[in-house]
Amino acid sequence: MKFKLALRKKCLEKRNFFSKKIGNDCLKEIDINLIISEIKSILKISSIAIYHPTKSEISPLKLIKICKNLSIKICLPIIDKNNNELIFSEFDNEKSLKKNKFGIYEPININKIIPDIVFVPMVGFDRNLNRLGYGKGYYDRTISKLRKLKNIFVIGLAYDSQMVTCIPTENHDEKMDVIITDKYIYR
Ligand code: ADP
Ligand code: MG
Repeated sequence: MKFKLALRKKCLEKRNFFSKKIGNDCLKEIDINLIISEIKSILKISSIAIYHPTKSEISPLKLIKICKNLSIKICLPIIDKNNNELIFSEFDNEKSLKKNKFGIYEPININKIIPDIVFVPMVGFDRNLNRLGYGKGYYDRTISKLRKLKNIFVIGLAYDSQMVTCIPTENHDEKMDVIITDKYIYR
């Protein structure tokens, strides 16, 4: 979709600008703890999927410590070359990771987990919890599959400035359940 392409460029410029301005470690621990405790009141959380931040993506790495204290497993995505979906494998330590074809760190060992919460990086978003990604649909395919398997919670992460009035959506686009930015929580 042409409109998505132009919007991606604009949103990525903003993301690059803000990651330099405020740094990528700008999520508020209080916001993450609040969301986790809310979800915990409705479903049992055994594992949470995050991502290893690349380029100007906002960092979810503080989840590692938070989850350790709560005895929740942390996992990271690995590209499944057979179907271009993401599978999640437990994160052990930085040494047990290797770079994939996009230069993103993935666990070396595959120990497949179906996470209860999935944190997702975003290029852009709107107030209706629609997400714009890099344009390859990895998360759309993955979330759609996981949602058929179990009741998962999907949380999009972005700088607040990546919000646009309206993300043009297609049938295959998966919405976020919550979006957390450096400033606000959108539900
Ligand atoms: P992104 O979400 O990364 O911004 P798009 O939503 O534009 O990217 O999707 C990129 C491509 O991925 C599209 O061409 C779309 O056909 C494909 N895609 C997304 N979700 C699915 C799905 N569930 N099944 C098959 N193809 C999909
Ligand atoms: Mg999409």
